[in-house]
Amino acid sequence: MEKFGRRFEGKVAIVTASTQGIGYSIAERLGLEGASVVVSSRKQKNVDGAVEKLKARGIEVLGIVCHVSNAQQRKNLIQKTLQRYGRLDVIVSNAAANPAVTAILETKEIVLDKLWEINVKASILLMQEAASHLQKGSSVVLISSIAAYQPSEALAMYGVTKTALLGLTKALAAEMAPNTRVNCVAPGFVPTHFASAITSNKSMRKNLEEKALLNRLGTTQDMAAATAYLASEDASYVTGEILVVAGGTPSRL
Ligand code: NAP
Repeated sequence: MEKFGRRFEGKVAIVTASTQGIGYSIAERLGLEGASVVVSSRKQKNVDGAVEKLKARGIEVLGIVCHVSNAQQRKNLIQKTLQRYGRLDVIVSNAAANPAVTAILETKEIVLDKLWEINVKASILLMQEAASHLQKGSSVVLISSIAAYQPSEALAMYGVTKTALLGLTKALAAEMAPNTRVNCVAPGFVPTHFASAITSNKSMRKNLEEKALLNRLGTTQDMAAATAYLASEDASYVTGEILVVAGGTPSRL
């Protein structure tokens, strides 16, 4: 059994795209630290599965289907959370898509639109929906990527949408201050379903491990720990910042 603090006692946290992978681990970590957590993703079956697993760990949890680019489902996510818990303290915007691995100059307009819509616009619209309900002392964490700094060939346009989130972090931090802090986590590579094409290829994986000073890929729990820090009172004087969690993989000064 992990020994965590209880930094989120009495707090309510929404995590998008949280029925598996990094989002799930974030919800689990916030829940183990005392938060009531709201998990969501596109498929009811995945939502139900995540709710069961979190409940089994003693976490107070509500599961809601929410495809982040569906306006009605975003509204429902916020409204149901408020109906059940009466407050909102933390939002982690974690959903992303990478529908194609083509060069930017070869990427079809429909794919460009989808990347913008899910990876950037949905976060903005979710904040528009949630902003007036956020408590004083609340916190938003956007999930970007190491690819925001150096988009690799295969992840080029995806990387550019993640670069946009760095700017969005700064801009929203200014707009939402002083009541709400807005920060960002930029994960290195983590072997999840999302990254499986890269991390399950032996030579690609070895290459990524060698690029990290700590000689390993990240874990979903590494990302959850960083997110929990930024969302917590421990980071009460931190806003508009990006925390790279990539084992020392080159990113920026
Ligand atoms: P993952 O393990 O594949 O999990 C994806 C989750 O998102 C699932 O719960 C999925 O459930 C849900 N989802 C997918 N599309 C959605 C949508 N449109 N609306 C709502 N939920 C959706 O992915 P992950 O690796 O944890 O990735 C999470 C975040 O970390 C992403 O922002 C990604 O860009 C970022 N990231 C990942 C890595 C990595 O190496 N894994 C590195 C850097 C950054 P449903 O199928 O039920 O919707």
